[in-house]
Amino acid sequence: MTRVASLPGVSPAQHLAHEIEAGVFDALDAEALLAFAIERFHPRLVLSCSFGAPEGLVLLDMMQRIEPDARVFVLDTGRLPQATHDLIDRVRDRYGKAVEVVCPEPDAVQEMVRSHGQNLFYESVELRRRCCAVRKVEPLRRYFAGAEVDAWVSGLRREQSSTRRDAAKVEVDALHGDLVKFNPLAEWSHDQVWRYVRDHGVPTNRLHKSGYPSVGCEPCSRAIQPGDDLRAGRWWWEHESTRECGLHVGEESDGSGI
Ligand code: SF4
Repeated sequence: MTRVASLPGVSPAQHLAHEIEAGVFDALDAEALLAFAIERFHPRLVLSCSFGAPEGLVLLDMMQRIEPDARVFVLDTGRLPQATHDLIDRVRDRYGKAVEVVCPEPDAVQEMVRSHGQNLFYESVELRRRCCAVRKVEPLRRYFAGAEVDAWVSGLRREQSSTRRDAAKVEVDALHGDLVKFNPLAEWSHDQVWRYVRDHGVPTNRLHKSGYPSVGCEPCSRAIQPGDDLRAGRWWWEHESTRECGLHVGEESDGSGI
């Protein structure tokens, strides 16, 4: 396999358009797909890891075995809990990894907080999306535009929510300038993810032990009860249909958070 060279006027996704359309990636398992992504795109490939869900850590562990210099970034919204910052430090120590930390524009945060307060997200879906747009979606766009990235890897899984059930293993990310987006765990189950964590001693966020299936911003995440839907701990005050991540869903161009 050959690495993709950046050609003027040809987006990264166009290089793989034929293979994506033909579904040739559907048969690859997670490790094989990651190996392909790294072979094709490293160092213009980056893993998106929230450090608040095991999927990103599983992928980081897999990528590390294939290419120790594989890149990883985290969106530090300014509202992450201490447990997540502690995990970022543990990962740095364990893998010797320079995590690329992406932050919101201070002026945009200041303006938003001045107009609507720190906790505007509880007031309406619109204001929650605004907060996510300022703290997550815009920083991600800015990062992708300036970080020499042609492709990214996400821990998205189909069973995570109704809005993710059709996710392909490889997609064109039109929102970010036709990047290639790899979802190696698309068909994995929750149990498979945790089996990998146990089998490989992957570090995870300590809040999972307190009932958090995933950990996002501190004021927008909470523990759930046994039997609850796994997404019930995120934006629990909203209807399920609005609880999607603006980072993954094209039509939510204003963003709605992780
Ligand atoms: S998850 Fe909550 S605090 Fe974080 S960016 Fe979205 S609305 Fe703001």
